[in-house]
Order: sequence, then C-alpha cells, then structure tokens
Amino acid sequence: MAILGSAVQRVVSAVRPPLSPLTRTTAWSYSSQPTKEKSVPYDKTLKQEDGTSSGPTKPLPRSADVVVIGGGSLGCQTIYHLAKMGMTNLVLLERDRLTAGTTWHTAGLLWQLRPSDVEVELLAHTRNVISKDLEEETGLHTGWIQNGGLFIASNKQRLDEYKRLMSHKGNRCRTRSATAPSLCRQREVRPPIVDDAAQSTPSPRRCQRDGGHINTVAAPAPQGGDRPLSPLPPPPFAGVLEAYVSSLAQSDAMMSELDGLMTSGAFSRSPPEEENEGFLLSLLSHPEGLGKVYGIESHVLSPAETKDLYPLMNVDDLYGTLYVPKDGTMDPAGTCTTLTRAATARGATVIENCPVTGIQVRTDDFGMKRVKAVETPHGNIETPCVVNCAGVWATKLGEMAGVKVPLIAMHHAYVVTERIEGIQNMPNVRDHDASVYLRLQGDALSVGGYEHNPIFWDEARDNGEQGSSSGGDDQIKSFTADHKPLMGEAPEVRGFYLGCGFNSAGMMLGGGCGRELAHWIIHGRPEKDMYGYDIRRFHNSLTDNTRWIRERSHESYAKNYSVVFPFDEPLASRNMRKDPFHQ
Ligand SMILES: Cc1cc2nc3c(=O)[nH]c(=O)nc-3n(C[C@H](O)[C@H](O)[C@H](O)COP(=O)(O)OP(=O)(O)OC[C@H]3O[C@@H](n4cnc5c(N)ncnc54)[C@H](O)[C@@H]3O)c2cc1C
Repeated sequence: MAILGSAVQRVVSAVRPPLSPLTRTTAWSYSSQPTKEKSVPYDKTLKQEDGTSSGPTKPLPRSADVVVIGGGSLGCQTIYHLAKMGMTNLVLLERDRLTAGTTWHTAGLLWQLRPSDVEVELLAHTRNVISKDLEEETGLHTGWIQNGGLFIASNKQRLDEYKRLMSHKGNRCRTRSATAPSLCRQREVRPPIVDDAAQSTPSPRRCQRDGGHINTVAAPAPQGGDRPLSPLPPPPFAGVLEAYVSSLAQSDAMMSELDGLMTSGAFSRSPPEEENEGFLLSLLSHPEGLGKVYGIESHVLSPAETKDLYPLMNVDDLYGTLYVPKDGTMDPAGTCTTLTRAATARGATVIENCPVTGIQVRTDDFGMKRVKAVETPHGNIETPCVVNCAGVWATKLGEMAGVKVPLIAMHHAYVVTERIEGIQNMPNVRDHDASVYLRLQGDALSVGGYEHNPIFWDEARDNGEQGSSSGGDDQIKSFTADHKPLMGEAPEVRGFYLGCGFNSAGMMLGGGCGRELAHWIIHGRPEKDMYGYDIRRFHNSLTDNTRWIRERSHESYAKNYSVVFPFDEPLASRNMRKDPFHQ
C-alpha cells in the first residue's frame, strides 16, 4: 500500500497554477470544465435492491445453441457479439446480478497502446463498441469518458519503451508463453484497423452446428444446403503491404527525428518555454509519424509540457511522458447493461439470479466428450456449447465439466482519495516504474498498484465467495501464468469454451476478445492470431500443476508494469520439466 501513497503524493504535491497559453492552444489541451454527469440511466437500467432476488429473472428455455455463464465484462461482450454475428438462440446465466463479480470493482481504464499488434486491434474494437456502436444501436450512453491517458517515464529506458509503443516498431509479437516461446509467431501483415461495421451481420440469421462448431448462415438458407458466411479475410495484397511498409518507414523517420531532438537538447529534462513550444510545433507539423500504423494519436511530452497538461503533477523527477488523448475510462455497469440491452434486442436471453450448478457432458460414438446441458436449481438447459466467463470462479465451472482452468485469484488493493481540487478532467496516469495507475474518479482519484508480494485468494476455488472487504479497497482478480487470458475451446471437452483469466485487462480487452470468442464459436477459429490467448498454448501437464500456476502467476503479477524486452523469459518455476540432455 505504500506505493499507492507515494503515487498520490506525486500528483497532488503542487498547487494548481493558472493554465499556460501553451496548454490552451495545443491540440491536446483538455477542457477545464467540471466533470459532466454521466448520462447512464442507472435507475432505469439497473434493478432496484428490493430483496426479491430469490428466483431467476426470466423463465429458463429448454434448450439453447450457446449458454454463456457469467454476467461480467466478458460474458456480456461475448453474448453481444454472438448476437451481432447473427445467433439468436442464446442464453446468458448470471448467478447474481450483472457485474456482480470483479467487473463491479474495476477501474475501467482503456489504454490504446500495447506492445502487441493484435492487442492494439482488440483494444481498438472495444473502444469502438463502447464509444460508438452501442450508443448508435441502443440510444444509451455506456458511461465512456475520454479523458486521455498519460504514461510516466522516470528514465530514458522507459521513455524509449514508450517510443517503441507509439511507433510500434521492433516489438511485433509479445507472447510471454512459458511453455512454447519458440512458437511466438509474427502475425500476418494486415491493413490498419478497419471498422467493425463491414463485418457485422445485422440481418436475422440462424445457426447450424457443424462438427462441434456452429456456423452462421443467412436466412433463408441458400439452395443446395447451408454454407458458412463471413469467411476469413483474403491474404494481404501487394498494395496494402507497400502502404504498411511505407508507414513503418515514416514512423522510423519520426523516431530518428525525436532522437535527434533529444540529443540536441531541444527535448531535455527542463527545456526553456520557447524551445519547448518549438518542439511542440515540430511535432504538430509532422503528425503523420505518430501512431501512424494504427492511427492512434500519441505525443511524447517533456516534463514541462507534462506540467502544462497536468498542473497538479510533481514533474521534478520525470524524464518524460507519453500522452494519448483518446484513451479513457469505461463504466462497468453502463457498459454491461448496454451490451445486454443490445443483445436481447437481437433475440438473446439474459437471466440473472440463476447459478449454474452442474454441466452435463456426453461421450459421442468416437469417444469424444461433448457438452450436453447445464444444470441450475431452476431447471436444465440442453446445449452443445457453453462459454465459461465466470471470472475467478471459472476454475470451479471447469471442474463441473472435467476441464482444467489454470488461473489463480489474488487480492488487488486500491485506494480512493478525498476530493482533489483541480483534478477534474485530468488524464488517467500509469506510472510503470512505481507500478501504479491513477484513475480519475469524478473529483477524486482511484489509485491501484501491483506490489511484489501479492496475497493469493485460494478460497475462491473452494467456496465461491466474493472477496470484498468492508472498506471496499481490496478486491480479487484472476491471474494466469503469463498474464494473458484463457480463451478458446478446452481440449478436454468439445463445445466448452473459455473466456476467462483476464488479469488486469478484462474491461479494455473485453470487446475485442468477445468478438474473437464469438467468431471462434461460430466458425471454429478466431479471426485474429489469438495464439497468445489460446488455452492450448499450455501443455496439459501444466494446466493443473498448482505450484507452476502459482509461481508463474506471481511473477507475472509482479512484473506487470516492467519494461517489455523482446524474448523476455520468466524466472519462476524453471526446470520443472527437463529434456533428456539437461544437465
Ligand atoms: C480494482 C480493479 C481495477 C481494475 N482495473 C482495470 C482497468 O483499469 N482496466 C481493465 O481493463 N481491467 C481492469 N480490471 C480487471 C477487470 O475488471 C476484470 O478483468 C474484468 O472485470 C473481469 O471480467 P469477467 O467477466 O471475466 O469476470 P467477472 O466480472 O468476475 O464476472 C464473472 C461473473 O460470473 C458469475 N458467476 C460465477 N459463478 C457462476 C455460476 N456458477 N453461475 C452463474 N454465474 C456465475 C459471477 O457472479 C460474475 O458476475 C480491474 C479489476 C479490479 C478488481
């Protein structure tokens, strides 16, 4: 908790000076208006606490094409995308109320820049869904606030990492896979982010099972039998490749220019105001070099520029920052409510107060295990497909079907400050070197961090309790051995899909991963290269090895904010398996 205290001190240690002219005129200055009220109609969209929560909120259907278990970020995103891709016979079962799990306590920060191209695309899709698509479809605001994001660098090494992020060079694949690092693949070159609209299928569709997978076909069925729609995109052609390579070259040129400015002193720890403004103008005159590849606007700022942007921040020990103006904050209740509204409008059924107590599995003529039905205290639902989006309880759900779900729950501490004058509309902050994040919460800050000695929450596996402390400042999250989610069809049982183990990123990755999971279920494969998230990346001798899961997850948690080096290898749980030549 000590790290959280010093993080708060950094941002409130200065008295707020009047905004400089530079701040008011730059493209990335932010409004100093008081925080506007969120327009999420909670009173209309959420149920009232009236003590009548004993039974399911809707009658259970006898059968469904897909049953999604869990009404958190992942469950809601998955059912929304399944419905959007044309499926209608869908059911989501939540044992309590929507967002009752980890999602309720989330900080909801959405950063667009990550050191993996696939993740950048997943994040972009989430942002699209919550800031645009859902509002257009439902007329409801999800509670999204675009207050920007600021990454703090205390040294050159960290700032270099940020520059790699913004130009996205030299880090094409970051898969901290413990089991098969050599399989880390370069994904195929694709054009920059495309809008989802072209891929969505608003017309009513019906679904057909095909060898354990479910294909979506347009209704009415075409002559000559059903055929799957939405094929994978064609391989990249020469024009796209050339455009991509040329954009990388432009990014490289911008990097060299930035390096030149750094060494020439134009960008130093405390540049004079005029030089500082000149530097800003030079950035603005070359906007094409920044975030070009993925179209994400971002700016490297000196300490003085950071002070202009965030006057309350103590910048004395800063080396520089990376500012991403279109980052922002998601609202968990608003997001999940709007997602389920949109899904039910397309024919899905969302049932709360309905815990899943068992999963029936059958063995087919080839000896293959397949999902048959889910059991609840209020009746069974026959289904060939279950999606386990039960968060920290996913291991327990897996056990019901004989599926190993290698995740572990840990406490995650955060503090919420008193009101801070002048903090309104400031960007969210990530201080990787201090291992903390600061989320704007109205007129206050919510500050969380990743300590080196996390507390495991083993009880989550046994009794399924929520880990809420009375002070509301200590919550549980699920963590995995390589800090990546667990997705895809479980190798043990056909039709049992995983959408869990989202560590610290289940809100911001939810949209992108919900779409990939829906595609996986319907077409038997995801659309993007999801190898780094696929449950099959782990050897089956490890997926129920408690010591390995625990030690690796501990290291991943502690190193969550460490500098990402290419081919980084974990230190924990070495030598658990040795080849015959090992000495
Ligand atoms: C303090 C904190 C800060 C965070 N900050 C961020 C952030 O800034 N950005 C970000 O992207 N992520 C953040 N996260 C992580 C993010 O909140 C989680 O990754 C995400 O909410 C997980 O969603 P989920 O749907 O997987 O799990 P959950 O939200 O836990 O949902 C699982 C649901 O399954 C239900 N369930 C369990 N068992 C059953 C059963 N048997 N039958 C039916 N239903 C069942 C539960 O009731 C629950 O509602 C943060 C988390 C915390 C705690």
